[in-house]
Amino acid sequence: MSNKHFDAIVIGAGSVGLPIAYYLTLEGLTVLVLDSESSPGQGQNKAAIGGVRATHSDGAKITLCLQSLDFYSTFEEKTGIDLGWVPGGYCFPVYREEEEKVLKGILPTQKSYGLNIDWVGPDRIRELIPGINENGLRGGTFSPGDGQVSPLKYAAALWKVSKDKGCEYHFQEPVTGLMMKAGKIKGVKTAKGAYYAEIAVNAAGGAAREIGLMAGIDILVIPDSHEAGISAPMERFFDPLIVDLRPGPEGKTKNFYFGQNDRGQVIFCYTPLAPILGTNRECTSEFMPILARRMIDLIPRLKNMLIRRVWRGLYPMTPDGIIILDQVKEVKGFYLAVGMCGQGFMLGPGVGRNMASFILSGKPIIPRDVFDSVSFYRDFYAGRKEALK
Ligand SMILES: Cc1cc2nc3c(=O)[nH]c(=O)nc-3n(C[C@H](O)[C@H](O)[C@H](O)COP(=O)(O)OP(=O)(O)OC[C@H]3O[C@@H](n4cnc5c(N)ncnc54)[C@H](O)[C@@H]3O)c2cc1C
Repeated sequence: MSNKHFDAIVIGAGSVGLPIAYYLTLEGLTVLVLDSESSPGQGQNKAAIGGVRATHSDGAKITLCLQSLDFYSTFEEKTGIDLGWVPGGYCFPVYREEEEKVLKGILPTQKSYGLNIDWVGPDRIRELIPGINENGLRGGTFSPGDGQVSPLKYAAALWKVSKDKGCEYHFQEPVTGLMMKAGKIKGVKTAKGAYYAEIAVNAAGGAAREIGLMAGIDILVIPDSHEAGISAPMERFFDPLIVDLRPGPEGKTKNFYFGQNDRGQVIFCYTPLAPILGTNRECTSEFMPILARRMIDLIPRLKNMLIRRVWRGLYPMTPDGIIILDQVKEVKGFYLAVGMCGQGFMLGPGVGRNMASFILSGKPIIPRDVFDSVSFYRDFYAGRKEALK
């Protein structure tokens, strides 16, 4: 076999491409990973703040993220490589009746998929987040099994462990075309030449649609941008990642979320009320003042925090906010692991394990009906049609 022939080619060495390549390699396949950037994780992976939670309302996200949590929390023990894992859980403090209703309303679904989560009173929230604003605090949810990981360490580690097992990586080599014959994948093209394989996995994040169009398939993944930032290190005083679901008083933000990483740095992000569509990654001047006001209102003692850096990255969004894992029916051997929205990092290892199993045996690891809920062939607008009625 020449080095132009592989069992599988993964397009994208990001949050999900890396673990897919890793698990396929572990199964004994010869795997080539191609990425436009110069090293692993340089797409949206490095924009993530590293939150890893199985606290979702969607069954597929819960089950996949539970598998990711198992991967992240045991990785160092198994490989000796530190990922910056902080097992502090996720806490959603609540001040208003509406958020209390929503969060309590989804608890039965979350528990039915095996998530360890409960509603806790204000005293417990105060213990979890010392110094939290107590004015009107009603309680909140806490899921102790969730945590945080460094996206930079994760990408470097996955690249190393998969390479050690024989996976081949080509960086600065964007895929420019797909080769197909009689409705089957035959390989991919780059500026440097052609590579042959009967399996190609689209894990190209924000560029997933471009890659799909190379096979004549329109994949509705449209990026919108989100900003984040990180403080200088300080003494650790809270463990959970905190999500404040209230809309911001300034009328521009939905929720905001932050955590304190293994170095004591506070790492934070917010969700703009109106999505900022497109791929512009320049920071705005309004992000830091808005975020600072929200954070100081929630935990006043953070007022002296020194900010080290801000950045902006993309959420590869689908119309219904749910990911896509599937095999393309029109082109045999063409697989999709795309549309990771704002959760690709926490989903990564779970997606990798399930996609490898699906590619090899046609069966995912999570229950089939749950996997089918993230099919490429679902009605992406069904939820919206309901909402419009
Ligand atoms: C500010 C911010 C904070 C976030 N925080 C979190 C968080 O706390 N937790 C979480 O789970 N998620 C978070 N996310 C979301 C997360 O970053 C993404 O969902 C995730 O990185 C998407 O993974 P991916 O593998 O699909 O894409 P990427 O990681 O972007 O990987 C795609 C790869 O494909 C490559 N590529 C593109 N086109 C080509 C081509 N033609 N040929 C070859 N390679 C190509 C890119 O270079 C890239 O490396 C956050 C995102 C942002 C912006």
